[in-house]
Amino acid sequence: MTGLDEIIAEEEAINLAIDTAIYSYLQRRTKVYADIQVTDLVYCPRRAYFEKKYGTKHNSNDFSLIVGILIHDFMLQALAEELNADNEVLTVEVFNIDGDFVKVYAMCDLLTDKYVLELKTCGRLPNEPRDSHVMQLEAYLRFFNREYGYLVYVNRNNGDRRIFKHYRDDTIYDEFKNRLDDFYVSLKYDRIPFYYNESLCKFGKRKCPYYDICYESSAIQI
Ligand code: SF4
Repeated sequence: MTGLDEIIAEEEAINLAIDTAIYSYLQRRTKVYADIQVTDLVYCPRRAYFEKKYGTKHNSNDFSLIVGILIHDFMLQALAEELNADNEVLTVEVFNIDGDFVKVYAMCDLLTDKYVLELKTCGRLPNEPRDSHVMQLEAYLRFFNREYGYLVYVNRNNGDRRIFKHYRDDTIYDEFKNRLDDFYVSLKYDRIPFYYNESLCKFGKRKCPYYDICYESSAIQI
């Protein structure tokens, strides 16, 4: 092997090591718990179905995802100390669907005696809280038995933040339970969830790694 070959081999090994590190971190971080999670339902349930059926696929934004997760985790620990809260609290609720007892897991960012807080780091602050985040918080209010909670968006570039307070809303929780019914039955009978909402498909062809499967196996034109 020439000196040049050795350098190329070393660079390939370093590249491979970085890919492996990113992949294993994301695998650990995104499989904190199995079965159905609240977050399966508040984003695109079809995508969550494909992830459970075919395994999680990551795309080229993996590294920025890791950076976002690290900032989020670091801030959570600091906030938990300042607010005298518990961070990353896990719980499970059991639902009766199609004659089965179905466990749904939830892990909220921060839990105090009074409220739930969900922290979202972002590149640009939204004017209104995202519907998916509101539904996530809504589910956590029910699961953790709180009457209200906060969605806190922090701009990861400059620390600006926007805080939204949310009280329990039966309409949103009913929608959550409808999605859960559809999702569970889809997993049980191995069919793609009927539930489709165009606004949840914001990833589109460029970003959703399941786009081709979703498109080919569905009558829905995305
Ligand atoms: S292509 Fe859109 S609807 Fe299909 S799984 Fe991906 S995000 Fe969901």
